[in-house]
Amino acid sequence: MPESIVKIPPTIIVRDLAAKLSLPITTVTAELIKNGIMAALNEEIDFDTAVIIAEDLGKKVELQSAEEAAAPAQTVDQYLKEKAGTKLVARPPVVVVMGHVDHGKTSLLDAIRQTAVTAGEAGGITQRIGAYQITDRGRQVSFVDTPGHEAFAQMRARGAKIADVAILVVAADDGVKPQTLEALDIIHHAGIPYIVALTKTDKDEAQPERVKKELAEHKVLIEEFGGQTPVVLASAKTKAGLPELLESVLLLADVHPEAMMVNPNRPAVGTIIESHVDPQQGPLASVLIHAGTLHLGDDVLVGQVWGKVRSMKTDRGQPIAAATPSTPVQILGLKAAPQIGDILRVAPDEVRELKKKVRGHQIVHHLQTVVGRRPTVISKKGEKKETDKKPRVEKLHVILKTDTLGSAEAITESLKKFVHPEVGVEIVQRGLGIITETEVLRAEVAKAAIYGFNVPISPKADQLARSKGLTIRSFKVIYDLLDDVQAQLETMLQPVAEEKEIGRLKILAVFRHENTFQVVGGKVTTGHMRASAGVDVIRQGQTLTRSKITQLQQNKQNTETVTVGNEAGLKVEGDPIIQVGDELVAFVSEVRQRRLDERVAAV
Ligand code: GDP
Repeated sequence: MPESIVKIPPTIIVRDLAAKLSLPITTVTAELIKNGIMAALNEEIDFDTAVIIAEDLGKKVELQSAEEAAAPAQTVDQYLKEKAGTKLVARPPVVVVMGHVDHGKTSLLDAIRQTAVTAGEAGGITQRIGAYQITDRGRQVSFVDTPGHEAFAQMRARGAKIADVAILVVAADDGVKPQTLEALDIIHHAGIPYIVALTKTDKDEAQPERVKKELAEHKVLIEEFGGQTPVVLASAKTKAGLPELLESVLLLADVHPEAMMVNPNRPAVGTIIESHVDPQQGPLASVLIHAGTLHLGDDVLVGQVWGKVRSMKTDRGQPIAAATPSTPVQILGLKAAPQIGDILRVAPDEVRELKKKVRGHQIVHHLQTVVGRRPTVISKKGEKKETDKKPRVEKLHVILKTDTLGSAEAITESLKKFVHPEVGVEIVQRGLGIITETEVLRAEVAKAAIYGFNVPISPKADQLARSKGLTIRSFKVIYDLLDDVQAQLETMLQPVAEEKEIGRLKILAVFRHENTFQVVGGKVTTGHMRASAGVDVIRQGQTLTRSKITQLQQNKQNTETVTVGNEAGLKVEGDPIIQVGDELVAFVSEVRQRRLDERVAAV
């Protein structure tokens, strides 16, 4: 049965979500907790979170349009009427093949494909894109090669019901093995009807009867013993049993024809079944379309990865312009390689928004790298001399993931308080729950920092972040998080070069007078003199010139410092105007990091 779709607003309180999904509140909160979200009954969660939770619970939710949100809740009748208006068509069944390693899964898939592709047919078998479609007796069937049981389980966890029928491959010469049981477990959980294909029956060691008994011992209710699960004896080598296998597949698919009724005219939705980066072409992803039709040029969103479908190829390597439901296609045009099991959807509006945001950030960052940073100079009197005339507000981009919407609000409000003429915070994405690879990929694109508050980090996200040299900043106390943001902002402030007075000296003698320098003697009255320090020459309270100590002596010996109360000999470079009675004020320049709360260099 096609599941009914529950429409929900952009944010919803947990209790309302449970009601809309017709589920006990405890079920919903338990699922939230599993996802690292500690939301109370009356707490709001956002739409993206609701989608994940609903999908995990086997439900489908869609965002209410503005009109729907304004209108009173839709009744079931209205919904059904609306459904009747849309023209649904039967899509081809999708078959997934699973089984223990080396039991002949790949060989079986290849054999089925070869049998279907008649000699001389254009294209032939040219590609492996994780799935293919064949035509058998005028009916199309799609086969998906699971990238592994774990990946399949993950797809399901993400709400993707990719297959209508499963083929459990068991080698007749080997029998039930751990991954056979694992596959059975997944199939049972997914609630997909399945067929057992006993492969390698051409081998002398094959003992199909023994394997059947083994299966029965593991609660596989096979037809022969009065159950419902068909068992087909097959061989990838001799191709024996393949027609029977296909027939069984179609029979099983026909048990629930209504499950395959979809709207081919809606914006396409599909699951990523294969994904890699081709060194020449860039990210290549295979998508199995569930509903709708994917067209060349469509703007698509896969998690936080977006793209435009630039080219689309079938499993035969043939370019096509439109992919209908159940068709596996390889697409080019995503900005990054998505994760297997991710949902792809055509979403032009969201893509436009995302592009706008990210483009803005990239330009800012580009400018920053071009301009670089030059320190602002502040003289010891506190007046500033800017070396960079045009101030620019540099933004710290933040991806924020929190346990509840309440904490998201609190943190967002606090972050707004970091107001500074030169730096600021911009939240580029906010979400609830566990930090996943999606955030890491987004952070990379948006050059953002990932902040987590009371949420776990998935091991994969952690690994991905490490491999990309990104740090996921995770906190349990809001103030700690805010302190960290402040520290980050401070590192973005232009450092200042500050002059600090280190001592004064009274001139007692002028020993030498040249055009560019003088050699003078005097007594240190405060602090100390330092070789290479800058000096201001002061007469009757007026600063006459600025010079530099290039040599310093005490008792005719070169030295680095001469402290208060001692006499010193100095070579001073600069305008030779020093007279007996003048005062030298020595200073040093220090470049230091500024704090956010000091506005000394603010423009
Ligand atoms: P997978 O790991 O389940 O994909 O298994 P493969 O398809 O790679 O097969 C594992 C091995 O079994 C390979 O050496 C195949 O040639 C062999 N094999 C697979 N199916 C058959 C079959 O029907 N008959 C025979 N004789 N060998 C097979």
